[in-house]
Amino acid sequence: QQQDLEQDILAWESLLAPEETAARDAVRAWVDARFAPRITEAHRRGAFPRDLIPELAELGVFGASLQGYGCAGMSSVAYGLVMQELERGDSALRSLCSVQGSLVMHAIHAFGSPEQRERWLPALAQGKLIGCFALTESSAGSDPAAMAATARRDGDAYMLEGEKAWITNAPIADLAVVFAKVADEDGRVRAFVVERGPGLEVHSVEGKLSLRASPTGNILLAAARGALLPGSGGLKSALQCLTQAREGIAWGVTGAAMDCFEAALDYGAHRQVFGRPLASRQLFQERLATMAQSIVTSQLMSLHFGRLKDQGRLTPVQVSLHKRHNVAAARRVASDARAMLGANGIIDTNKVMRHLMNLESVYTYEGTDDVHALAVGRALTGISAFS
Ligand code: FAD
Repeated sequence: QQQDLEQDILAWESLLAPEETAARDAVRAWVDARFAPRITEAHRRGAFPRDLIPELAELGVFGASLQGYGCAGMSSVAYGLVMQELERGDSALRSLCSVQGSLVMHAIHAFGSPEQRERWLPALAQGKLIGCFALTESSAGSDPAAMAATARRDGDAYMLEGEKAWITNAPIADLAVVFAKVADEDGRVRAFVVERGPGLEVHSVEGKLSLRASPTGNILLAAARGALLPGSGGLKSALQCLTQAREGIAWGVTGAAMDCFEAALDYGAHRQVFGRPLASRQLFQERLATMAQSIVTSQLMSLHFGRLKDQGRLTPVQVSLHKRHNVAAARRVASDARAMLGANGIIDTNKVMRHLMNLESVYTYEGTDDVHALAVGRALTGISAFS
C-alpha cells in the first residue's frame, strides 16, 4: 500500500483553508489538461505557447495576490499554491506569471499613479498586455546598483538610454518596467514604464539550455520614452518587487520537485532491476525518503512564511532564507530523480531533466543562491560580506 506524500505523510490538507485548496486544484487541473500536453514541444521549440495566455488570465493567475483592477486578491498561501501548480507544469510557466504579477503589476500597483494603475493593471490582469521587468544589465547582475541605464526628464516624460540583459518575457512584452538612474536627481534609481515602440529594441537570447519555453531578451533603450512611476524611489523599490516574486518562486519550485518525485516513484514501481521492482531496493527507497523530506520541509517553510506574509510580518531575510532553501532543495530532488530514471532520465518526455535544467536558472535569477546566503549571513552576524 503506497502512502501519499501530502495526504498521509504531511497531513497537508488539514493545514489549508478551503479557498486555498480550491485555488490550487483549479490551476492543477488546468495545467494537467491544457499545459502538460504542450510543454515538451514548447521546450523543444524554445517558445512559450502564447495562445494559452487568455486561458491563464481566465484562471486569474496574473497578479493573483493584488487587490482591485480585476485581480483575484488571493491570500499569500493561495497565491503560493498557484505558483506551485504552475511550476509543476514548468518553471517557464511560473516565470511568465511571476514576472507579470509579482514584478510588473506589483510595481505599477505599488508605485503608479491612480491613472497609471487604471490604464495598465486591468489589461495586464486580463493578459491583453504582457509585461517584463528590466533591472539586470550585462555588467550589473547581483549588484544592480552598478546599473548604467539613465533617464533624463523631457517635458512630462523621461528619455531612457542604456541596455538591459536577461529579461524574462521581453520578446513578447507590450511594456517594460525599467529601472534607470535619473540624471536630474543625482543618479537616484527610479522605475519607468516603457511601452513597446520607438527607442526600445529587443533581441532574444538564443541558445538557452534552461527555461527554454520562457522567452528571454536583451533590451536596448535609445531615447525610449518612459513614464515615471511616481511612487518609486531608490533601489529599494526594485527590491520590494523582487521580495514579492521571490516568495512565489520559493513556493513554485516545490511544484517542480513534486513532479520529479512522482516521476521517480512511478518509475520505481514499474522498472524491474535484477528481477525485482526498483522501488523494492533499499538504495532507491533511501533516495525517495530523502526527496520526500526535502519536499515536506520546503512546504512547511512556505506555509509558515506565507502565513507571516498574510499577517504583514514577513521580512526580506526570511524571503532570502525561503528562496535559497527551497530552490536548492528542488534542484537536489530533480537531480536525484534524473539519476533514478537511469537513461530514461535524460529524455525530455520524462520531464525530470527539463525541470533540472530549468532549476539552474531559478538558482541564479532573483538573487543567486550565494547572494541570498550573504543576505542571511549579514543578518546573522551584523556584518555585510557583499563588498
Ligand atoms: P553575477 O552577479 O555576475 O554573479 C556571478 C557569480 O558570482 C554567481 O555565482 C554569484 O552568486 C557570485 N557572486 C555575486 N556576488 C558575489 C559576492 N559578493 N560574493 C561572492 N560571490 C558572488 N533580470 C531581470 O532584471 N529581469 C528578468 O526578468 C530576469 N530574468 C532572467 C531569466 C533568466 C533565465 C536568467 C538566467 C536571468 C534572469 N535575470 C533577470 C537576471 C538575473 O537576475 C541575474 O542573472 C542574477 O541577478 C545574477 O546576475 P549575473 O548573472 O550577472 O551574475
